[in-house]
Amino acid sequence: MPGFEWLGQEEKDAVAQVMDTGVLFRYEFAEKRGDSWRVKQFEEAFARYTGARHALAVTSGSAALKVALAALGVGPGDEVITQGFTFVATWETILDIGAVPVFCEIDYSLCMDPADLKARITPRTRCIIPVHMLGAQARIEEIMAVADEHGIPVLEDTAQSAGCTLNGRHLGTFGRVGTFSFDPVKTLTTGEGGMLITDDPELWQNASEYHDHGHDHRPVGRGNEGRRFMGFNFRMMELQGAIGLAQLAKLPRMVQVQREIKARLREALAELPGVSFRHLPDPEGDSATFLSWFMPDAEQAGRLAELLAAEGAAPVPWGVNTWHTYHNWEHLHQAATVIRSGWPFKRPDGELRYGPEDLPRSKELLERCLSWQIMLGWEGEKLEQMLQGIKRALAKW
Ligand SMILES: *Cc1c(COP(=O)(O)O)cnc(C)c1O
Repeated sequence: MPGFEWLGQEEKDAVAQVMDTGVLFRYEFAEKRGDSWRVKQFEEAFARYTGARHALAVTSGSAALKVALAALGVGPGDEVITQGFTFVATWETILDIGAVPVFCEIDYSLCMDPADLKARITPRTRCIIPVHMLGAQARIEEIMAVADEHGIPVLEDTAQSAGCTLNGRHLGTFGRVGTFSFDPVKTLTTGEGGMLITDDPELWQNASEYHDHGHDHRPVGRGNEGRRFMGFNFRMMELQGAIGLAQLAKLPRMVQVQREIKARLREALAELPGVSFRHLPDPEGDSATFLSWFMPDAEQAGRLAELLAAEGAAPVPWGVNTWHTYHNWEHLHQAATVIRSGWPFKRPDGELRYGPEDLPRSKELLERCLSWQIMLGWEGEKLEQMLQGIKRALAKW
């Protein structure tokens, strides 16, 4: 997911232009800034790129999730279903807004299992958050069918999959709202930043007001604007908008390079007995930030990871990863919180409890799953070295 690898002269120039205007705020200062509305222009360009009607830039992918949930009206008393393989931000946000995360198993797509989703829907379910993990598609059409049957809005956490499509349509445009992250390790990076996209003008309006202390953004001058409800501050700044525009222009090429490298790596690995690759609903649309595969069992995955690491091609062993896997989120299982009252785990109506063994199928899959994160810098000679290393490792298998 390495947009940082291609931070270059374009981003430097874009930042310098903003500095020259002296305006870092996304609103106001119309005279001083001239036509330099970088956050707004980034939103418009991102909406055009993804094919969404509206986009709202925010301070992070976590903020995008928070603003989206708020705009959907989700809060205490509500359940939100997400998957047990995601970055912790997904469930942190659900707890932070006062709702209850309900975790669902993943399948060979490494994303939400639509059948298990169905089993976890209750009368309290107010939102479903499938996460398009590791650069590729969740089984979003099947997930949408389950959600639509129950009339529950879907928020696609697309933080890891900018540039990925399913049957030609960008991820994040299937559900009511889609969210993206531009943090330092994401494919498109603005250092910190995020985006929310939607076709629903009312949801966008709610999100826009909520992310800026409730300001209604009527063109009457900031001091004279009204407020329909309280909000908070999740505003992106102009420097990030400028970097985002420069990075977005590079995104199609980044995806292209990743695809080329991934195809070569996949070919090299395909010869290994027992290997099975992650199920991709649409391989053509893959943003190719990762190559992920399963070994027959955890022991073989561990052994292969060691052989590859010894040859300079270390994969990510998901079974022991503490950032993304449900069974390793010890702070969640311990209900650990800095808040004195025990919130958000201890609540007036009871206590939330999450056990490390609650998602046995996800655990079993992840313990035998390995990935390479594809780096843009692997183009050319470096890739040939990797392929040689992989060959040597497989010869020892
Ligand atoms: C990165 C990420 C986020 C959070 O994004 P930040 O910009 O780091 O706050 C949310 N969900 C997933 C799946 C992520 O990978």
